[in-house]
Amino acid sequence: MSSIIGCLALNASYEPLTMIPLRRALRLVIDGKAEIVEADRERLVRSERMAMPRPAVIRLTKFIHVPRRFRRQVTNTFLFARDDYQCQYCGRNAGELKPREALTRDHLIPISRGGANTWTNVVTACSTCNTRKANRLPHEIGMHPRLAPVEPHFVHLSWAVRRLTPIQERYIRTFYGSETVAELESLRT
Ligand SMILES: [Zn+2]
Repeated sequence: MSSIIGCLALNASYEPLTMIPLRRALRLVIDGKAEIVEADRERLVRSERMAMPRPAVIRLTKFIHVPRRFRRQVTNTFLFARDDYQCQYCGRNAGELKPREALTRDHLIPISRGGANTWTNVVTACSTCNTRKANRLPHEIGMHPRLAPVEPHFVHLSWAVRRLTPIQERYIRTFYGSETVAELESLRT
């Protein structure tokens, strides 16, 4: 279990949005922009003037619209999490790479040949495989990803890479069902 556990932020509609750092969660609560829904009563957080239970789940008081484009942006953090930190060509995971290798982003259709930087055109590749594939199409060099790349649900990944406490998990189960929780757990290795 990670020792740095953030706070799960819910929209005003109770839809789980994302994990945020504890300090930011406290700021939102103090400013009246969010309320504490669940707190860890065993652990108090103190400021100069007050002590309050450490928030585990907060809910924004005002509904916010999360722009779709923001949700869909490809970042390496989420890309590697989607692919379970595994090179989609040779199958080695981050821990099996040699000291000078790293996980990288590979474009199935290279950018230089008109490929886009979209979820369905990018896969996790170790630097060695990425260099070998270079600017070729998968069928030209016979390198095909193990799993066809799909667009992940942005928020699913943001929970997956940060880990959840049992309380936080309950909210995700309530809103999205047990299947989503099982999916998230399968992402943890
Ligand atoms: Zn590889």
